[in-house]
Amino acid sequence: MRKIIAYILYIIYLPKIIKESKRCDSLLTIYGHDISLNSFENLIKWLLKKDYYFISCYELFDYINGNLSDKKKYVWLSFDDGWKSNYNNVFPILKKYNIPATIFVATKGIEDGYFWFNKARYNRNSIFYKDIKELWEMPNQNRVEIIEKLEMKKDYRLTMNPDELKEITSSGLICWGNHTNDHVMSDKCKEDELKNEIFLCNEKIKQWTGKDSNFIYSYPNGNFDGNSERIVREMGFKMATTTEMDRTFKNTNPFSIPRTEFKEVSLKENILHIYNIWTPFFDKLKRTFNIQSKK
Ligand SMILES: [Zn+2]
Repeated sequence: MRKIIAYILYIIYLPKIIKESKRCDSLLTIYGHDISLNSFENLIKWLLKKDYYFISCYELFDYINGNLSDKKKYVWLSFDDGWKSNYNNVFPILKKYNIPATIFVATKGIEDGYFWFNKARYNRNSIFYKDIKELWEMPNQNRVEIIEKLEMKKDYRLTMNPDELKEITSSGLICWGNHTNDHVMSDKCKEDELKNEIFLCNEKIKQWTGKDSNFIYSYPNGNFDGNSERIVREMGFKMATTTEMDRTFKNTNPFSIPRTEFKEVSLKENILHIYNIWTPFFDKLKRTFNIQSKK
């Protein structure tokens, strides 16, 4: 059903898609989490067919500072968290097409084999919370205390391991980005807490890969405010990225670089996602439906 909806929307929005795919006035900044080899390769092949040129996070910095020629159509590719599929499915395609990417790793997940929200989902009937949503919204220390009380199944790995991070590094295609140690929501942390989370992430990535991860930061879950932005700046980062859906322009704030997300869906749906057509369409539909049901 979802494929059919994507197909219909793709046809309706084809003129917009064609227009978007020709734009050179801004950068396409796209990201993913956990994806299959086929879905990812289909998207990459489509972007290459459209003559996109893939840039690293360092070229992204040059672009924002006006030091990258705008003769080409650029796309900056990134992944959040450090899922196992980044090694199994993404890395082979990056190597095959010689494409650079940035991977933002939450390092505790690499050590444990899963992230705190996987543990929370595994304990979805916990007495400590009614809805997992609450955990994303409470002060960080409260969340940590609850997560520590939960049990998790043994030998469960959803994430890459340190050896895989090391192997990926040797390709020279990956820029490691900071995503905090415990995937904390930046705006739910006290200043010292956030600084420590960022510091730990950088230390561990350096230990595993020999590389720093203090060039670019990705706000976990897209949560950020003026205070977290200031802390990230003060800790010496050059850029930070969000989950706000937009393209990146030369005057975009380097500490809130937007991104559109591709997913484990059909290629047509992913095209609608990366050009920010899918979500606004359904948001508009929901708003219209709400208004009508109130009448
Ligand atoms: Zn994340």
